[in-house]
Amino acid sequence: MRIPDFLKKLLLDRLLDLEDTLVFNQYEDQAVDWERIENLYIHIPFCRNKCLYCPYFKKTYQEQKAWFFGESLLREIELHAWWLKGKEMQSLYIGGGTPTLMTNLLIQAVEKLSALCILKNIALETTPAEINNRVLVELHHMGCNMISLGVQDFHQKYLSSIGRNYLVADTLKVIEKIGLLYYDTFNLDLIFAFPGQTIQELDKTLHMAMATPAHQLTFYPLFTFPYSTIGRFKQLKKVIMPDGLTRKRMYYHICDKLLGNGYKQVSVWSFLKGGKDKYSSVTRDTYLGLGPSAGTFTGKQFLFNTFHMNDYISLPLHNRIPTAYIMNITPNMERLFWIYWRLYETAIPLTAYKDRFGSEFCDDFNHWLWLADKLHYTVKKDNHIVLTKKGIHRVHLLQNHFSLDYINRIWTACTQDPPPSKVPLCTWCA
Ligand code: SF4
Repeated sequence: MRIPDFLKKLLLDRLLDLEDTLVFNQYEDQAVDWERIENLYIHIPFCRNKCLYCPYFKKTYQEQKAWFFGESLLREIELHAWWLKGKEMQSLYIGGGTPTLMTNLLIQAVEKLSALCILKNIALETTPAEINNRVLVELHHMGCNMISLGVQDFHQKYLSSIGRNYLVADTLKVIEKIGLLYYDTFNLDLIFAFPGQTIQELDKTLHMAMATPAHQLTFYPLFTFPYSTIGRFKQLKKVIMPDGLTRKRMYYHICDKLLGNGYKQVSVWSFLKGGKDKYSSVTRDTYLGLGPSAGTFTGKQFLFNTFHMNDYISLPLHNRIPTAYIMNITPNMERLFWIYWRLYETAIPLTAYKDRFGSEFCDDFNHWLWLADKLHYTVKKDNHIVLTKKGIHRVHLLQNHFSLDYINRIWTACTQDPPPSKVPLCTWCA
């Protein structure tokens, strides 16, 4: 089900102020509040095998291209050294692509960053096909303390259906090895709502996942970005995706099963056990993205690096940061972004809101709160506005309709050659 544009417009008109614009413009050396940034992200844009559903920016691994990319990444870090120096960074998140294809580069990048600033946590995501003993030792020496393994499912037929190139039996061995290494947090990424998947199959995956040493389980629905291979495949072959009701039943089944087995819901999609720190790839207040297509958020500006690999390779080597697009963030938009991510985490801490924005959340959003209460989406508990199970499901739907739509627009525009001078996030805000 799609939300019609007029409804989206109505909703955004109620939330946005007149000066808020949802348009990215070409970056032309505008001033950026880099010093506000407290987290780092490195994007490794290579995979040996490309999965059909994957929306992320990645190229097939090629040694020479990867070498040039590595030189540019290290240079990009140096170009930010002037404001990184002496800062304490809450986290470094390494994603992609498949970061473990380039552990030598990661070690160099982490050394370079550590010489400039303090890195409190290092989190990395990878796939079972690219983990071996050497890689695990290197990650350990690098100081990686949180790891996420993109398992996706424990049924070979579903792994094959999305182009994953490893065996379930091998995945279980990799999980066992990682479990022995005392990571602060070990997360498994899993997918649900495959075409044809039954609740019984989902249940088997849940039980197998719960039996692993992973501390956190993250279940995403199979997304179908129109520009991803599976999006095109779906259109071409008329693949029938599970309908909204089936997806909802599956989502509730996951929530009930995990909450009933000692897990705590820490985001719309993630469940954590054992008092560990949550692993998250997205909920950072401010971050600098390094690498092609990486996003940066300062709270005052939202920026994207170029999506064109040749530009990414040449710009830092010519002493230019590879930023391609910028959108200015008004105080109202900053507040809405903050609330969006707290909703994603399933609760809005009222004291934190007041400390940050200087006003009471319940006054600023009293009409919305009244509506959410009437619809049984939220309850007030321990100085938090907490989403109910129904509310969490609606946020999960909103994520699908808004974020994925926006991501789709940005990715589609930025990968054009030549890239457009403006990237509007909605049809009416161009
Ligand atoms: S899902 Fe992961 S491994 Fe597969 S293509 Fe995307 S980034 Fe690469």
